[in-house]
Amino acid sequence: MEYGILADRLFSHITQTPEQVEASYPRRQLPEGAQVTRMGPSPTGFMHLGNLYGALVDERLAHRTGGIFFLRIEDTDHKREVAGGVEAILSMFSAFGLPFDEGAAPAGEKGDYGPYYQSRRAEIYQTFAKSLVAQGMAYPCFCTEEELAAAHARQEANKENFGYYGPYAVWRDRPMEEIEAALAKGLPYVIRFRSEGSIENKLRHEDLVKGKMELTENDQDIVILKSDGIPTYHFAHVVDDHLMGTTTVVRGEEWLATLPVHLQLFRAMGWKPPRYAHTAQLMKIDEETGGKRKLSKRKDPELALAFYAREGYPAPCVLEYLMTLINSNFEEWRRANPDLPINDFPFSTKKMGGSGALFDMNKLRDVSKDVISRMTAGAVYEAVERWSAENDPDFHALFTRWPDKTRAFLAIGRGGRKPRKDLAVWADVKPYMDFLFDELFTPDYTLPERVSVGDAQSILRDFAGMFDQNDTPEAFFEKVKAIAAAHGYAADTKAYKQDPGRYKGAVGDVSMVIRVAVAGRQNAPDLQSVMQVMGREAVLSRLQRCLAALGEENCK
Ligand code: GLU
Repeated sequence: MEYGILADRLFSHITQTPEQVEASYPRRQLPEGAQVTRMGPSPTGFMHLGNLYGALVDERLAHRTGGIFFLRIEDTDHKREVAGGVEAILSMFSAFGLPFDEGAAPAGEKGDYGPYYQSRRAEIYQTFAKSLVAQGMAYPCFCTEEELAAAHARQEANKENFGYYGPYAVWRDRPMEEIEAALAKGLPYVIRFRSEGSIENKLRHEDLVKGKMELTENDQDIVILKSDGIPTYHFAHVVDDHLMGTTTVVRGEEWLATLPVHLQLFRAMGWKPPRYAHTAQLMKIDEETGGKRKLSKRKDPELALAFYAREGYPAPCVLEYLMTLINSNFEEWRRANPDLPINDFPFSTKKMGGSGALFDMNKLRDVSKDVISRMTAGAVYEAVERWSAENDPDFHALFTRWPDKTRAFLAIGRGGRKPRKDLAVWADVKPYMDFLFDELFTPDYTLPERVSVGDAQSILRDFAGMFDQNDTPEAFFEKVKAIAAAHGYAADTKAYKQDPGRYKGAVGDVSMVIRVAVAGRQNAPDLQSVMQVMGREAVLSRLQRCLAALGEENCK
């Protein structure tokens, strides 16, 4: 049997030619230097930081050069697929605001280079596999799992390389009659690529992230189509990225090991390979050992992108932080341009680190605090409203009960050169403002050390008599000073420091007593502003409540 006959025999259902397929994927008409990038996630239901890291690089490369960023669903492994996996991918990317120009989309697919689901491209892969078989560059292999396992055991015993190569490539040069006989018996088979490579040879590769490197040629006859006719990643990647006009493949460094296979396949097909950017693993410092390790799905909830949505990390904060990991000069740029949109940053693969990027939650929180502190109260309100509706409905009801008050509270300490940085995630908003709501108010009336219960009572009574919700913070402070002086506390902190023996304490102790009564805790934003938001009635009732509690304490 000739190769051509074998190809027809194996792929009798494939009637189109590679040329016909090629014709339906014309070269993209893009400006000089425009890059075409893609995200190729598998719909396993688990979207992780690595996906987002890669997507951000893809998106920037494409959109900074006037190119195309598309989404291809790599759903060739049915075992790993979960229901709703594609929707999870789409909603995650839209939540992070990374716009795809083409690809899988909520309403089907968009773009002229599809289908964008690998599961819908079986015949395309088979067309090219058929052509390889017809040229003698690929062949069917009927090895069973057991036979492959036995070969593996032999290789182990002989301390040889594992895999399907040389003498172990047992179907590579079988006479046609044997292939014919196996086919006649209906035995399952895979299609393998006939490698002409040798591990004695090196090939040169220049990676956009890792730089120049030397790789060992591939000598394995790798599987290109599995027994169900579905391609392996290797083959699907080569066929798809060629047809879809991908110029730059950004993917995890775990794919470097099989890069020689991919380059070999591109050569065999007569196609120009894309450029590759193999990105470094995300690492973290292990809390127990203090050493660096890879982020793990099992140990680190922060690896899952769902974690950020649930905790309420604003998407721009996560992107901003990832950019600090992706480009070493981003932080410097951000310091010089605090108000520019992140997309103005001149992103470049040249500034990407080749070795493990260290992911640090505390750093992320700091970046997030910075970003949130620069948002307007209105924007914070809207974001928290959306987040709490989904993640904390009870709090949502309180948060939206008096929108104007809530917004006014969120505005305290915002704006200006040194805005407050209390919030890193939307989940922080509840503990930040829970005291405003009687339903959530669980006061801790611990008084400042230097203030006796009796003094606290007098301070609160005095203050209740003179509180005016329309006071400015300065006018409020004058009142507090007067109360301080009346009860033996220094009205001026400096005076107290100079001669502490003369006073019971200082003006700060007095305002702290009021804060503890009103907010039920020792830290809260500017007190007079808070009381203004709360309103006279609520403040007086808080003062009374504290007086009552202190009264009980006195009677103990
Ligand atoms: N489906 C592959 C993965 O999830 C994509 C790798 C690539 O982008 O080429 O790892």
